[in-house]
Amino acid sequence: MRLKDKVALITGAASGIGKESALLFAAEGASVVAVDLNDDAGNSCVEEIRAAGNDAIYVHADVSKSADCENMIGAAEREFGKLDVLFNNAGIMHSADDDAIHTDEEIWDLTMNVNLKSVFLGCKFGIPALLRAGGGSIVNTASLVAVMGSGAPQLAYTASKGGVLSMTKELAIVHARQNIRINALCPGPLRTELLMKFLDTEEKKQRRLVHIPIGRFGEAAEMAKAALYLASDDASFVTGSTFLVDGGITSAYVTPE
Ligand code: NAD
Repeated sequence: MRLKDKVALITGAASGIGKESALLFAAEGASVVAVDLNDDAGNSCVEEIRAAGNDAIYVHADVSKSADCENMIGAAEREFGKLDVLFNNAGIMHSADDDAIHTDEEIWDLTMNVNLKSVFLGCKFGIPALLRAGGGSIVNTASLVAVMGSGAPQLAYTASKGGVLSMTKELAIVHARQNIRINALCPGPLRTELLMKFLDTEEKKQRRLVHIPIGRFGEAAEMAKAALYLASDDASFVTGSTFLVDGGITSAYVTPE
């Protein structure tokens, strides 16, 4: 049990990486605060955790809103008495996100607010809670596009994830001597709703697949295992890392036949 007696808050817990992480963290002993906008799916994630005999609550929050973020952190402390792990994971990839010429300002602002401002707000209210608990671990979901440009444009998304990665590094250093570790999980392309909706034709899917050395999309459950490592004491000397879990993409010049 790698998170025994820990309290872990996960945003975007209704689907994909967040849901798989909520289930895994709970199975590893954590009390889970599952946060999302999608109340039905968020509540069913919590029901699944409880049905397995573990502890969880659902909290509705729009992570781009300050009051909601303050409330979700408060809910963890009110319900479970402390916060040890904060997984800032919720994010969007808008279908109208494109190159600089074609991306509307409102899509840019929405993407920045949900993907980047949310991580700032999670940390703004979460770090004081971790300090009250004597320290802890923060995992921020960035992306491999934080370190590589994409020829299939998604400019606002890419810029938001670059921001998550740089913010993570600075936060990790600022809080390194306060027993708080902060890392950026950088997934490659995954077979989750977020990407499959964006790649809505077989041709678009193939255009990505050809760049993945392992030859398939990643699974949310594979990201949950990486997040568990970063969240747990197994990663006790890991902070400020660009934790790439990308099927080999960022090491590839030419992919195998
Ligand atoms: P997903 O769409 O399956 O899940 C995202 C969850 O976030 C959903 O439950 C959604 O309701 C929630 N959410 C969206 N906006 C929110 C808001 N404002 N407030 C609260 N919750 C909100 O996506 P996923 O693939 O599991 O993505 C999770 C994270 O991983 C995102 O940050 C995403 O950018 C990142 N990521 C995904 C991929 C991929 O290929 N899927 C690759 C790299 C990074």
